[in-house]
Amino acid sequence: MTSVPDVIQTWQMVQPWTRDKETGTQTPGRLERTSIRMPELHPGEVLVEIAGCGVCHTDLGYFYDAVPTVSTPPLTLGHEISGRVVAGEKSWIGKEVIIPAVMPCNDCAICAAGRGNRCLNQKMPGNSLGIYGGFSSHIPVPATDLCVVKDRGDMPLEQLAVVADAVTTPYQAVTRADLQAGDRVVVVGAAGGVGTYVVQIAKALGAGTVIGIDLKQEKLERALQYGADFVIHSANKDVKEVRNEFRALCKEHGLPSNFGWKIFEVTGAKAGQEISLALLSFVGKLIWIGFSADVNEYSLSRLMAFDAEIIGTWGCLPKHYPAALQMVLDGRIQIEPFVEIRPMSTIRETFEEAHTGKLTKRIVLTPDF
Ligand SMILES: [Zn+2]
Ligand SMILES: [Zn+2]
Repeated sequence: MTSVPDVIQTWQMVQPWTRDKETGTQTPGRLERTSIRMPELHPGEVLVEIAGCGVCHTDLGYFYDAVPTVSTPPLTLGHEISGRVVAGEKSWIGKEVIIPAVMPCNDCAICAAGRGNRCLNQKMPGNSLGIYGGFSSHIPVPATDLCVVKDRGDMPLEQLAVVADAVTTPYQAVTRADLQAGDRVVVVGAAGGVGTYVVQIAKALGAGTVIGIDLKQEKLERALQYGADFVIHSANKDVKEVRNEFRALCKEHGLPSNFGWKIFEVTGAKAGQEISLALLSFVGKLIWIGFSADVNEYSLSRLMAFDAEIIGTWGCLPKHYPAALQMVLDGRIQIEPFVEIRPMSTIRETFEEAHTGKLTKRIVLTPDF
């Protein structure tokens, strides 16, 4: 049995980047290596020894872009975690688990309505779980909603960290879209860390046609190998040009361009959002996954005229995790080509590279300190 150390090794966000509103001067944020006292576990909690924690766009938002965390710094970021239970509830000890990125309270009206992924009392590691997050050696978490990993074969446990968010958030989004076999799907941001899984999951669940749109040609080529039927390279094109290309592509392949498309907006960037809105048409659905602080202009009356819907989606219900994990384990969702494992001691450089858009894969950091 693994012994439990006295302290948790961790990389804390001591201070995010700040920008003086008057002078515009930027003060660099600080990520510091430190150790914190091992907490007393409460009833129902377990201690997870972390195998890996993915670096998500959301972490970068907290560190670089003044997106506030619920728990104020210093705190440890990181919410995409896999690991092994080493203390707490006896029945859990030794189990390999994925920690849901958002853990509902399971005790409120929203949870009771089956919408616990947006429970207002939810806990998210690296944001609202006190000072605890995934860029650590260990983390205390409620046991209830942990997803047990079984029969993972030779798939490394740390690699499965991406199931906690990058895979399950798209899974929830596709569920919210009520995806049916034969559906026509557009993924705007198809080549990114989350979009790549929207494409794979939609295709695996029977989508008839999946069109991927993205700025990066090289990554779009990869999307064609993993679920996309066609791609549109949107770099240096305005919304109209992209829409015309979409219509031409539909015409060429005998598909209707003006009705029934389920569109997933995954970019969280204004340009991508505008493309998504422009493609929504009759009896279509637009599922909004990406986040940005931008305000979009759109005539909502179009929704009436189109009998269309725009749906927001946040995180994923813990109950969907086993199904999403199973799709990864049986190969319907490929994660290996999209993940790179690095030691946690590279966190500063990794954040910097991720922030400047230099990465082609999602990084999972493994504890070495
Ligand atoms: Zn995330
Ligand atoms: Zn709740």
